[in-house]
Amino acid sequence: MTVPASAVPTPTEPTSAPPPPTRVANPTSVPHTEPAELEAILAAAAAAAGPLAALAPAARARLLRAVADALDAAADELVPLAMEESHLLEARLRGELVRTTFQLRLFGEVLEEGSYLEATIDPADPDWGMGPRPDLRRMLVPLGPVVVYAASNFPFAFSVAGGDTASALAAGCPVILKAHSGHPALSQRTGEIVAQALACAGAPDGAFAVVVGYERGIEALQDQRVKAGSFTGSIPAGRALFDIASGRPEPIPFYGELGSLNPVFVTPGAAKARGEEIATGFAGSFTLGVGQFCTKPGLLFVPAGHGLDEQIAVAAREVGAAELLNKRIAEGYAEGITRLTGAPGISVLVEGAAVDGLVVAPTVVKTTVPALLEHADALLEECFGPASLVVEYEDVEQLADAAAAFSGNLTATVHAEESEADQVAPLLSLLRDRAGRLLWNGWPTGVSVTYAMQHGGPWPATTSSIHTSVGTTAIRRFLRPVSYQGMPEALLPEVLRDKNVLGIPRRVNGTLTTDDV
Ligand code: NAP
Repeated sequence: MTVPASAVPTPTEPTSAPPPPTRVANPTSVPHTEPAELEAILAAAAAAAGPLAALAPAARARLLRAVADALDAAADELVPLAMEESHLLEARLRGELVRTTFQLRLFGEVLEEGSYLEATIDPADPDWGMGPRPDLRRMLVPLGPVVVYAASNFPFAFSVAGGDTASALAAGCPVILKAHSGHPALSQRTGEIVAQALACAGAPDGAFAVVVGYERGIEALQDQRVKAGSFTGSIPAGRALFDIASGRPEPIPFYGELGSLNPVFVTPGAAKARGEEIATGFAGSFTLGVGQFCTKPGLLFVPAGHGLDEQIAVAAREVGAAELLNKRIAEGYAEGITRLTGAPGISVLVEGAAVDGLVVAPTVVKTTVPALLEHADALLEECFGPASLVVEYEDVEQLADAAAAFSGNLTATVHAEESEADQVAPLLSLLRDRAGRLLWNGWPTGVSVTYAMQHGGPWPATTSSIHTSVGTTAIRRFLRPVSYQGMPEALLPEVLRDKNVLGIPRRVNGTLTTDDV
């Protein structure tokens, strides 16, 4: 069950107003943060902001590596905890922990390389085209304390020491981590390990803390000492928190990664050339992680009359039942299945009713483009879990109509033959307006952490389409630019002085260089 936005106070209402949502774990297993404890955490974070920002990038890189090393060393303790609370399998969780520590170390390399600072130096120029220009030097500086909301579906990679925490710490921002109620004990233990590693590596006190409890999460975001928020989860919760962040007396950026349908379009050429391979790949992708990935392909457009629907049904039936994360997700999934299967114009290809409690088998439903467009309200909504909708189209015009009906998505995928490039190009340009990542003959699940990764997209995929929450540029979300004009050398940050002591790439007079000015 997702929490309705109406359960959240508007920014002008008292914070104690909303009734807490259904808890997904034993609430007594980890005590909630007391208001006085939250106050101490916020004060410490505010005090840590200056010292953390003042650390040289290489020193912050050492902090990130220390956290990565500590988490790797604790894998045998953390993975069983994660298995118990999330019901995810050991291999998946070990892989996710590898991703998490890889990410921390990669971000450390980014700090040392230095171009993330966007250091730009325009020396004074009396002959500048529009008239004499002053000496201007620009770089990015940390925003200040950030509230990070951990996600339910990635207990490591998008949680306590996940991408948002790594990004904010890399940027030089203290982190106040709101634990997800789906894995409280794991959050608490991971938080202890992170805090201890940071302290041993020389981070200022207050650079990192975990808070537990729905209300404390809201209160933290409302606090004037907090300068940004980030979140991965449902659209209602993300929207409610975005409104709180925006409605504060001092509005702050809030980076929410919310819902996505991740449509996949199969051309007639691709269906003919490799229908079975596509069917198997699709079944594997929409059921990966029991369908609890924000990049799950929730819609597959197939040409009518190619028999792909039958191949998909066979492939989906071969995927076994598995456990969902928790009761809240299971309730939301059950609602989603009821909505999908009950919509007009739908036929059920594979019926995967709940087997027992959290255990579910995949569900595949089928419709046509006209029915999809007519019942878009019911059918173009994310169903979080192992379900997907196959949509048959008659011709290229129908495909374009369908693509134009989408709002924002994290990804959009095309399966086609290279010989069909001319027909596919207009579709791709429609999709580029609606998605953050475009895939060719691949599957959207599996989001690599790299320099060029984009994990974001127009609303409702995210609350800020100009950023990414995965990949090295995720750090950019927690930085803001400052220009120094006519500043004496001694008062400039080291990064912007004439001598390039750090040896980082800087744009000097319009040209990227590592030379001194
Ligand atoms: P959620 O309900 O969005 O909760 C995420 C976080 O926000 C939790 O810390 C939760 O606190 C807090 N929260 C929830 N509603 C809030 C509100 N109105 N105001 C302030 N804080 C609020 O996410 P979830 O528990 O992971 O899953 C619920 C549904 O979200 C799923 O069924 C799925 O549809 C969707 N989901 C989507 C993605 C995605 O990547 N697209 C990922 C995960 C989930 P507590 O934990 O303390 O209650």
